Amino acid sequence: MKTGDTLYLDHQATTPLDSRVLDEMRPHLAERFGNPHSTDHAMGWHAAQAVERAAGQVAALVGADADEVIFTSGATEANNLALLGFGRRAADGKRKRILLGETEHKSVLALGRVLTERCGYTVTMLPVDCQGRLDLQSLEEALDDQVLVVSIMAVNNEIGTIQDVAAISRMVAVHGARLHCDCAQAPCAMDLNAIAGLVDFLSLSAHKMYGPIGIGALYIRRDLQGMIEPIIYGGGQQNGLRSGTVPAALCVGFGASARLLAGDPGLRERNVTARRRDKFRERLKDTLQAVWFNGPSDRDFCHPGNLNVGFDGVAASDLLARIQPRLAASTGSACTSGIPEPSHVLRAIGLDQGKANSCVRFSLGRYTTDEDVASAVEIICSALEDSLATA
Ligand code: PMP
Repeated sequence: MKTGDTLYLDHQATTPLDSRVLDEMRPHLAERFGNPHSTDHAMGWHAAQAVERAAGQVAALVGADADEVIFTSGATEANNLALLGFGRRAADGKRKRILLGETEHKSVLALGRVLTERCGYTVTMLPVDCQGRLDLQSLEEALDDQVLVVSIMAVNNEIGTIQDVAAISRMVAVHGARLHCDCAQAPCAMDLNAIAGLVDFLSLSAHKMYGPIGIGALYIRRDLQGMIEPIIYGGGQQNGLRSGTVPAALCVGFGASARLLAGDPGLRERNVTARRRDKFRERLKDTLQAVWFNGPSDRDFCHPGNLNVGFDGVAASDLLARIQPRLAASTGSACTSGIPEPSHVLRAIGLDQGKANSCVRFSLGRYTTDEDVASAVEIICSALEDSLATA
């Protein structure tokens, strides 16, 4: 997929809006502009119906019910509502410990610090193995009846690792702790249709799944909704859990994007993308000697579009600069861009600082073609040759 001069291989940073999603949103951005909370007229009712339908579509993707979906601005806010909202409400209770995976998204890690400093919790970081899989033995050892909540991402945004959420869920439940799962990267990577039954809270983001940017959701199990303190107060929308006018057009887009990924079409898309990603890896390996790949070797445990590549002796930031504007990829989480520190994910899987700074995350998506893969390999190889020539 090319936009202008750029071949886009950064789908884990954000996905393009699917044109079918835009088509469904369009009327709600124009003539059907009613406020879904206007209860006095038909335009408001129609908008409310559209929001309700979208909540049902998002809920269906994860095996939940519409009333368990709280719309937010994205996964960062959903993570905040889950962990801060739950942590604050339970701050006077006897469970004072929180467990977080070492490779969690920055938003979750930041919440660990806030809950420690402001609410007196103790956070334990859970290690991962060299492929990014959570060390279940460490989880078992860390769990006790003081643990309030465990937060584990379903799919990693940098190296694509898919966690065994079912096993984690069983272990957490034994100790009566709650499980939050950051699923921002999961809809394009795995079948989520039963995940709501395994977790208590679950975060989603529409712009990682071909929906619009600026909307996400937190699934909160119905019986736990009273245990979450809002982080945004106001008119009491969404059961008082998240005040503010719900953006109907964005909800409609989010719902449509969820519908397009559910079931067989989602499975087919994952298979096609994984085959293309594998081809990309093979071509890079055949053409360049000094590369290695980060993340799971077993493709069943890896995001189908993710290819995190280490280029021996090359600074990833230099390589990315050289391939601009021809190829968009990234040094890791876009949220850390600008902070000059090596990826905490790559460090957690055992890479030293030098190696961590030599890695580029490529992420393929719905519109990536075989020709794109061939062009990407050419662009990368010629940039590496140029850099050798000028070294
Ligand atoms: N969690 C993960 C795993 C992510 O990849 C991201 C996006 N980088 C987020 C949370 C934050 O999502 P949003 O951009 O919707 O706030």
